[in-house]
Amino acid sequence: MAIWIGPAGTPTTVSTGTIDGIKEVENLGLNAMEVQFSHGVRMSVEGAKKVGEAKGNVRLSIHAPYFINLLSTEMEKVEASRKRILDSVERGHHMGANIVVIHCGYYGELGAEESYEKMKAEFEGLSDEVKSNGWKVALGPETAGKMKQWGRLDEIVKLCEEVKGCEPAVDFAHLYATQAGRVDYKNILDKVSVLKLKVLHTHFSGIEWSPIGLTGKGNERRHLPLGSKSPDYSELVKEILKRKLNITLISESPLLEKDALVLKGMF
Ligand SMILES: [Zn+2]
Repeated sequence: MAIWIGPAGTPTTVSTGTIDGIKEVENLGLNAMEVQFSHGVRMSVEGAKKVGEAKGNVRLSIHAPYFINLLSTEMEKVEASRKRILDSVERGHHMGANIVVIHCGYYGELGAEESYEKMKAEFEGLSDEVKSNGWKVALGPETAGKMKQWGRLDEIVKLCEEVKGCEPAVDFAHLYATQAGRVDYKNILDKVSVLKLKVLHTHFSGIEWSPIGLTGKGNERRHLPLGSKSPDYSELVKEILKRKLNITLISESPLLEKDALVLKGMF
């Protein structure tokens, strides 16, 4: 069993870049960090190599830019999305990151089946590119926080079963929001267990969400610190310990490293 915990981005106390962020993560006694390319891939390949030299024992991942829609009806947008993902993976390879987390896109007018087939074809194309470049980084489709965004847990698991080089990014707060304030850790971990992952990559935080009528579904509004509006993570910790999982837990709380330390304390 191995557990990696750390912030989504450099700790809140650091404003001097990724490498200083990694050092602070180590100082704090944490051991993971997700590099945020949220608003664009603004790191050169050279820069990524320097991050790789500085990473020490910190497990790195990358969050690809938010502006991605692999299901767009506009080909230009799909191509720009592919490029943002592949640019992220290339940086990830050079810094020694394990996974690039991806918001895949929006269902739009597509039904469940059609959107799945289209998404699968996209990921097959991406996976081929990653392989042909010799990049050793997993593509990580993330469980979405809004119902119009593609990516229910079952779809993500199926995609990762069927496309080589894909591993799920499980966002527990998103699952909690889309299920209108419910989260069944046993069920989630059972579902991903079919993938026989070496390490499961996950996000956690509190979350504000709004229900969609009486459907039993909901949409995320924003991430919050751990507390009254978060899933009960002590139950998750128990389940991880019971299953002796290898898992990375990235704090997407506004309090980043502070809530990462809170979760570490629960272990
Ligand atoms: Zn995300």
